[in-house]
Amino acid sequence: MCIGIFQKEKFEIVNNPKDAEIIIINTCGFITSAKEEAIQTILEMAQYKKTGKCQYLIAMGCLVQRYKKDLEKSLPEVDLFLSIEEYDQLWEKISTLINKKEVSKNTLDYLNRVVSTGNTTAYLKIAEGCSNRCTYCAIPHIRGPYISRTMESILEEANQLANRGIKELIVIAQDTTKYGMDIYGKPMLATLLDKLSHIESIRWIRFLYAYPESITDELIAVVKNSKKICHYFDIPIQHISNRILKKMNRQSDSQSINSILTSIRKEIPDVILRTTIMVGFPEESEEDFLALYTFIHNAKFEKLGVFQYSKEDGTPAAKIKEQIHYKTKQSRWNKIMQLQQKITYTKLQEKIGNTYEVIVDGFSEDNQYMLTRSYMDIPDEDGIIFIKNNGNVKIGDFINCRITKIRQQYDLEADRIE
Ligand code: SF4
Repeated sequence: MCIGIFQKEKFEIVNNPKDAEIIIINTCGFITSAKEEAIQTILEMAQYKKTGKCQYLIAMGCLVQRYKKDLEKSLPEVDLFLSIEEYDQLWEKISTLINKKEVSKNTLDYLNRVVSTGNTTAYLKIAEGCSNRCTYCAIPHIRGPYISRTMESILEEANQLANRGIKELIVIAQDTTKYGMDIYGKPMLATLLDKLSHIESIRWIRFLYAYPESITDELIAVVKNSKKICHYFDIPIQHISNRILKKMNRQSDSQSINSILTSIRKEIPDVILRTTIMVGFPEESEEDFLALYTFIHNAKFEKLGVFQYSKEDGTPAAKIKEQIHYKTKQSRWNKIMQLQQKITYTKLQEKIGNTYEVIVDGFSEDNQYMLTRSYMDIPDEDGIIFIKNNGNVKIGDFINCRITKIRQQYDLEADRIE
């Protein structure tokens, strides 16, 4: 959206920071590793003020929202810090900084956005903020309560993206399954997905971050029956021990999690299940960890993200006395990762010989291979299917292939078929 404003104001958007006169860094302040990465990026970009064309460095996003005063003191290289609550004055502040005489009244506008994920796939944000109160998470504090966009506004943006050639929509929010509760009084994700699937030129639709307690039969049925909605559920569960789930203030328990996973697998046999879990939450005992390990072993998720608990300022979990030693967290993380590697390997092996429709995302550096994805993979997070480049395709094309072998870790190789 921010890029869209610059484009509307007739600035040229460049991809290489060394060519930019203004560099904008969008930061994340969710967990320690993201904060470190954001600060590292700010410092790296600051180098372009010395060696490149850069005259102004602007930082915005969650990290700024959380630590603006501290950042202003410690990072004098940055010319402007914009917290989330200042986004409605974004252009006024930027144009004041760069001495434009006439300050435009432009504000953030979903319909004005530039898609930074390429020309074929776009993320579609359906709500801001979060009203859940997971005790380890600072997001509700940073982003404020959950506010759904209206369905009209989302559909208008989706149509606009489709008209610009986007083929794959990835629907996101902090919790997509809560969509509509605040403005329509009931969950509306299933209805929204159904409406999106009527946009003719959109071929694939995905939704991420579906919370187990809010997945309805209606939602499962819409996914099952749609030709466009990928059979892919991303359901962050965080843990399986009821004791820890309660301390995390999660709404589901082990029984409801198991039951929803069983229903989805039963209804949609070729479904890909992704989850995210956290090890080392305060007071996580060996027994809690063993329960989690056993659950991961039995559930056999196709995709798994594992995080080590990170103590976040201002969250209730940070105040719990019994924090877990970092070596224990690391060791628990290693154990789960090793377990999941075996599961992933077996799951990938089962795909050999199967045929899939894939989207062409790009080409290998030597141009020998097309880099493609099937419904089983989300961009950047999941695997790639490598197919020999016969020179007859372009980015965004959909082609068919047969899987021939595992290439490495999460990636596969395939032959193109008609
Ligand atoms: S659902 Fe929980 S973990 Fe996710 S953003 Fe909201 S509070 Fe954070």
